[in-house]
Amino acid sequence: MTELTKTLELKLVEPNAHKRRKLRETREAYQQALHDAFNARCTTQTEANDVVVNYDLSGYAKNALKKYVPQLTTTYNAGELHDDHPVRFTNEGLRLDHKPENAIEWYVKIPHHEDYHLWMPAQPNPEQRDWLAALNAGDATMGESRLFERDGTWFLHVTATRNVEDGSEVSAEERTPIGADIGEASLVTVCHRDRHGSPTAPELWADEGKTVRRLRKTNFTAKRRLQMRGSERIAESFGDDVWNQIGDVFHRVTREVVEYAESVENPVLVLEDLTYIRESMDYGDFMNRRLHGWGFAKLHAQIRYKAVEKGIPVETVNPRNTSKECHACGEVGYRPRQATFKCTNDACWMGEYQADANGAINIADRYLSGESHSREHTDGNDSAEDGGRLTAPQDTQADATKQETLGTYAS
Ligand SMILES: [Zn+2]
Repeated sequence: MTELTKTLELKLVEPNAHKRRKLRETREAYQQALHDAFNARCTTQTEANDVVVNYDLSGYAKNALKKYVPQLTTTYNAGELHDDHPVRFTNEGLRLDHKPENAIEWYVKIPHHEDYHLWMPAQPNPEQRDWLAALNAGDATMGESRLFERDGTWFLHVTATRNVEDGSEVSAEERTPIGADIGEASLVTVCHRDRHGSPTAPELWADEGKTVRRLRKTNFTAKRRLQMRGSERIAESFGDDVWNQIGDVFHRVTREVVEYAESVENPVLVLEDLTYIRESMDYGDFMNRRLHGWGFAKLHAQIRYKAVEKGIPVETVNPRNTSKECHACGEVGYRPRQATFKCTNDACWMGEYQADANGAINIADRYLSGESHSREHTDGNDSAEDGGRLTAPQDTQADATKQETLGTYAS
């Protein structure tokens, strides 16, 4: 077992004037409390408590100050304070909510005053979706978080920790790639090739695909009916319930996908690369529907973090034509029926094949052909595609000496 800790980056999405004011109030109260406690040279939590208790701040921020000020005055022996300190909240100060049905999927609850908090939509660093999914499912622990503003945009950095199984030290070539195709008819399809190169019997989660489709349809029609009757609030809570049911299906399926991988010797799970899918406009409505409507990103993130927890490496490949090419000869074929792929190459022995399984084998084969790339290897400096990177605020004297440059998802 290895304990991994990561700083998760979230950008608050266009807070309205009211919420901006509340964020600034929190920051101002925090800065004042920090300066007062620092200038009073508080060296213990009790001393710091006597100062910060008078401020209109949440308990999470006060507790963070009680821990932080004595560190500054004793351990780091800081001479003076830097002006711009992020607001710190102690462990579990924030709460997350995931609404995969919304354009902005994530919401975060930020403590404001003692009994008052703000729920705000937030955009995560897309590379860290799997970590958020783990946090949200209770499979990772939330540590301290920091709230700060840069050039008019508010950010949250959240520390998260989780335990992962140590993977075996097998080289990439010795691994057996397992293609996992996230789709519509079958929610997920996994398949790999055996020692002789023949595709094994695929495992499909087709019933679950049906269940999720039915739930979404129920949600849609019922919601519309309720909205027409003006029952927005009931419509909202009804939607939550349906999404919780879909969430349960997702968690079971992704757990079973990882169990399938565990049953194979030296596995590597291969998924389609989300960034390609998002960037490629050619995929049009179909792919967009897969992405947003079907919780593609959610399933993707869950498979990733659950695999890593079990010490199973995950690689991603370019998804171009994975569902259109024949896994036997590479020719582009077609689907006479939703579940069937037909190869158009007369010389090919294959003829017809289960369409999702064909896609899963193509995904697995791309790992072998060297088209894969591990996200983990590039972690930390690979979000250039998502906009510029910022230098993290200089939030303690000690951090400053480390000259750490943290990435901030800032697009
Ligand atoms: Zn063929």
